[in-house]
Amino acid sequence: MITGSFPADIFQTIFEKSPGSLLVKGDMPRFTIIAASDTYLEITSSTRENIIGKGFFEVFPDDEASNDDNSARPVFTKVVKTGQKIDVPAYRFDMLNPVTKKYEIRYWSCCNTPITDNNNEVAYILNTVVDITEEVKAKEAAIENENRLRLAAEAAAFGTWELNIQTQVFSYSPRLAEIFGQPPETSLSLLDVRAQVNADDMEHIVIDAYLKALKTGKYLYEVKINWPDGSLRWVKVQGVLIYDERKMPLMLLGTILDTTESKRDEIRKNDFIAMASHELKTPLTSIKAYLQLLSRKLAPSNDSFINNALQIANLQVNRMTDLIHGFLDLSKLEPGKLKLNIQVFDLNKLIEEMIAESTLISPNHEISFKHGKDSTVSADREKIGQVITNFLSNAIKYSNKGSKIIVSIGQEAGSVQVAVTDEGFGIKAKDQEKLFQRFYRVESSRMKNISGFGIGLYLASEIIQRHKGKIWVESAEDQGSTFYFSLPLST
Ligand code: ADP
Repeated sequence: MITGSFPADIFQTIFEKSPGSLLVKGDMPRFTIIAASDTYLEITSSTRENIIGKGFFEVFPDDEASNDDNSARPVFTKVVKTGQKIDVPAYRFDMLNPVTKKYEIRYWSCCNTPITDNNNEVAYILNTVVDITEEVKAKEAAIENENRLRLAAEAAAFGTWELNIQTQVFSYSPRLAEIFGQPPETSLSLLDVRAQVNADDMEHIVIDAYLKALKTGKYLYEVKINWPDGSLRWVKVQGVLIYDERKMPLMLLGTILDTTESKRDEIRKNDFIAMASHELKTPLTSIKAYLQLLSRKLAPSNDSFINNALQIANLQVNRMTDLIHGFLDLSKLEPGKLKLNIQVFDLNKLIEEMIAESTLISPNHEISFKHGKDSTVSADREKIGQVITNFLSNAIKYSNKGSKIIVSIGQEAGSVQVAVTDEGFGIKAKDQEKLFQRFYRVESSRMKNISGFGIGLYLASEIIQRHKGKIWVESAEDQGSTFYFSLPLST
C-alpha cells in the first residue's frame, strides 16, 4: 500500500504506460482530453500533441456521426448525467496498420468510469480500452463451425445429441425425437430414449458400445428401436468421448441416423441370397454326384479328352459349391443368425486336417506346419476350420506355383495365435485396412485373372470377432503376406 504523498509526475507516467487508457473531462458536450496512454495513442494512430487539450469529438469526429447507443457521445453523456460506470462489452473500431497502410478489423471492450469531485459531480471519465479481436474472431469461428455442422447434420437427416457422463443430463436436436417416431418438440429423457431401444440390443449392443467408448473414446452401434406406433426401425449411433482437464470422461457427443431403409434393403438382399443359394445347392449336389459317377465309369477308357473335361468340370463344380456356401454363410451373418457350435478342441489337430485337405486340392505348393504346444480352445471347430482354409486358399491363390507356405501356431498372454505366411504377391498398406470388408478385392492387373468375390476374409473376420478373437495381416507388395488370427485359450 502506498502511503504519504506521491509525486504527480509518477502518476502521469503510470497512466501513460497503462494499457489503453484515456482521461476526458466531464465538460459536456466538449469532453476535453486530459491524458492518454501510449497504447491508446497507438490504437487511435494519434500523438499526444495532437489530442491533449482538444475536445474528444474534435479529434474523433467519426464517433459523433454514429447513431449507436454504445458510441462515445451517448455513453460519455450518460456517465456524466448518471454518475454510473458504463461498460461497452464489444465494439468494432478498425485500426490502420502502419506497415500495410490498410485498415484492419479490430474489436474492443471498453469501460467508462466516472471520477467525481467534492460536489459529487462527474469531473472526469476514465475510458479504458482492451483489444478483444482474437476472442471475437474465435467466437465467430466457433459459431460458424457450429452452424456448418448443424446444416450438414440437417442435410444428412442426422439428429445430434450429447450426454454428460457425470450428471447423465441428455440433450439433443429436434431431429432425434423424430427419429424415435415422436413430434420434434417432444421432451425426452435418456430413460425415455432407452426404453424405445429393443431390450436385447440394449443389453448386448448398447451397453457393450458404451463400455468400449469409455476405453477407446469412440462410440458406435446400430440397433433396433420400437416406434410408438408399434413399427420396428433401425438407427445408427456414432459418438466421441470428451475428457475433462483431469482426463476423466466428461461428455459423449454424437449423431444418430435412421438406417431403416438401408437395413431393410440389406435384409431383403440377404434373404434373396440365402434363398437363391439354398435352391442352387440341390441341383449342384446332383451334378456333382453324376460327375463322380461319370468319372468312375469312364476312367478305364483312358480317353485323355474325357478325363481332362471331367477334371475341369469337377473343379468348376467345386468352385461353385464353395461360392454358394460362402453366400449362405454371408446371409447368416445378420445379428443373432450366425450360431456358434462351441466345443473344446486342439487347434494343432484342426490345422493338420485343413493342410491335408488343401494339399489334396492344390498339390503345387509346399505347405509346412510348425506345431505349437497343446492349444486347446473353446470354439466352433467347423467355422475356425473355415477361417484356416480361407487363409490357406488365399496363400495358394495369390502366390506362384511351387512357392512355400508356412503355418505356425504360438501362444501368448492367454491366447493362441495362428499365422499363415506365403511368398506371394503381397498387399499394399492402403489395401490392408480394407481387406476384411465385405466384397473388397485388391485391384491390380495380376489379380484380375484370379477368381474370387471378396467375401472370404470378411466372413473370417466376422467369425473371429464372434469368438472375441483378433484377425490381422502383415504384408508388403511383392514381399509375401502373413495372415493372423488369435483366439482366447480355453481355461
Ligand atoms: P477373394 O479371395 O475371394 O477375393 P478374400 O476376402 O478371401 O476374397 O480376399 C480379399 C482380397 O484380399 C483378395 O481379393 C486379395 O486381393 C487379397 N488377399 C487375400 N489374401 C491374400 C494373400 N495371401 N496375398 C495377397 N493378397 C491377398
